[in-house]
Amino acid sequence: MQYRQIFLLGVITTGLLSGCGRSGNAVVPAFDAGLAYQLTTMAAAQQPRHSGTPGAEAQSKFIADNARKFGARVITEAFEGITPEGRKTFRNVIATIPGNDKRYLIIACHYDAKKLIFTDSFAAANDGASGVGTLLAVIKAVASAPEKTRYSLRFVFFDGEECLFQYGENDGLHGSRYYADKLIKTGEIEKCRAMILADMIGDRDLNIALPKDSDPDLTKLCLQSAEKLGYASHFSFPGQIMYDDHVPFRDAGVPAIDLIDFNYGTNNTFWHTREDSMDKISEESLRITGSVLLQMIYNIE
Ligand SMILES: [Zn+2]
Repeated sequence: MQYRQIFLLGVITTGLLSGCGRSGNAVVPAFDAGLAYQLTTMAAAQQPRHSGTPGAEAQSKFIADNARKFGARVITEAFEGITPEGRKTFRNVIATIPGNDKRYLIIACHYDAKKLIFTDSFAAANDGASGVGTLLAVIKAVASAPEKTRYSLRFVFFDGEECLFQYGENDGLHGSRYYADKLIKTGEIEKCRAMILADMIGDRDLNIALPKDSDPDLTKLCLQSAEKLGYASHFSFPGQIMYDDHVPFRDAGVPAIDLIDFNYGTNNTFWHTREDSMDKISEESLRITGSVLLQMIYNIE
């Protein structure tokens, strides 16, 4: 993802936190943070896994196998895309859990790692693996819950989020642009209630800063969920601009939100470097994000 000028005016007031009539009746399943951490460790061990590598394909299989084992219906969609290095094959993994409603939520992350220039040895523990481990554990929680969710759930693990050089028409967001385009072409986009993205959510020092373009109702829901669980201090709405996998859905008119902590190490120095390793992330941070995601899934109206 890419970051531009930060800190516009946005402030979420406490009025927003208390103003919404949540039912509060949903029984939200527990999140297994130990499992999330274990799966994140396994995902991070797959090196390298930037798009187009055998490692990326192996990671797509790792995701599909686990999601299936946990009870989701899984498909892997391979497609070709043009990149600054020529054509590449990308694979999105889509894990579905039916709900009571025909409409669905997209819960997403990316699994590809940034291609580093001087090394293939790169865990991308936070910027990639943390989302994979957390979403897989969320799938397990929902699939083993006694009651169906209101909305059907599509967990989408995007390939090709990272750009090689600079974000543009043929560089970066390959998986999310492909998937959003497909939903538009088939008309399925109409049934998409919301898109919730999780990216870089494992930092030990977790500060999820919701971007400026976050849907207001989803922002409210996210902050209320965090408040309810006692995690409010880890979430804020500073209103920065973030170019990430939620953008193609936002542009298609889907209410979207990006749960991202884009302050990873002092001045973000761990980001896109070999410093992004498992010792920088914590099980507790995965618990915070995973639990808030579950709250959002079960309380969205
Ligand atoms: Zn990245």
